Amino acid sequence: MKAHFQYCFIGAGSMAEAIIAGLIQKGKATPAEIAVINRQNNDRLKDLSRRYGVDYPLDKAEAVRRARTLILAVKPKDMDFALQQWGEIIRMDQRVISVAAGISTAWIEQRLGAKAAVIRAMPNTSSMIGCSATALCPGQYAVEKDLEEAKQTFDAIGYTVRVTEQDMDAVTGLSGSGPAYIYYVVEALEQAGISAGLSQPIARQLTLQTLVGAAHMLLETEEEPAELRRRISSPGGTTMAGLETLDSHQFHQTLVRAVHRATERSRELG
Ligand code: NAD
Repeated sequence: MKAHFQYCFIGAGSMAEAIIAGLIQKGKATPAEIAVINRQNNDRLKDLSRRYGVDYPLDKAEAVRRARTLILAVKPKDMDFALQQWGEIIRMDQRVISVAAGISTAWIEQRLGAKAAVIRAMPNTSSMIGCSATALCPGQYAVEKDLEEAKQTFDAIGYTVRVTEQDMDAVTGLSGSGPAYIYYVVEALEQAGISAGLSQPIARQLTLQTLVGAAHMLLETEEEPAELRRRISSPGGTTMAGLETLDSHQFHQTLVRAVHRATERSRELG
């Protein structure tokens, strides 16, 4: 059957919207090449169609059949039901990309009617502004071309790497949960600025610009973070005094433990 849509999103939530916005903005697909289906034909679909021009066909099964790539974007707890609904009609010549956290490619493959290429993706919330850190891994029937096309899809919402499936829990612990660790650091720095005498708006602005500036320094100079840190921390100076306090409270080890614990939790849930 000739594909009518390049993509059909199963699930029209915030992750689907982030990917749709990226694909259209980066010219990877036209709105007419994108179909979206949801649990109900609700206002959400009309809203997406109005804002992005995407199609929401009333015949959902036909939309699933006529798409080159299906993007499974339902919550993990809804995945079983979604695959009961649509899994049987998915064919071998279609590609299935799942963004559901903690759901393996093998689990999805077992629920499909054919040996379609399955790819699992783990984006993060920064995808909402096109700045995701996304990891991809292939299922047993996905070939290089499938991975390359999936990479192009997720490159539309940020930066993409390939990993093996066993690394997906570590990805979840690091870049999946990572934005929350950074927000936590921002909260603490801002509070610190305020308690040291700055006004809240000034403390917020200085914290954010420090974060953005440090991130750009790392990206643009490609220097090691330890080297950049060494250069601005002279013995007896202010930065060294601050870093020594972080060390005495095991800041480094605490962050390592946080990522390991989140990784372990992802394994427990999977
Ligand atoms: P969401 O709740 O905003 O959207 C899910 C949508 O799926 C809802 O609109 C719901 O109506 C629809 N749905 C449920 N069952 C369906 C079915 N059987 N058929 C068709 N549609 C159905 O969720 P979200 O935040 O967009 O997350 C979607 C997936 O993305 C999740 O599996 C999550 O693990 C993954 N993810 C999200 C983020 C994020 O930043 N939001 C990051 C990484 C991974």
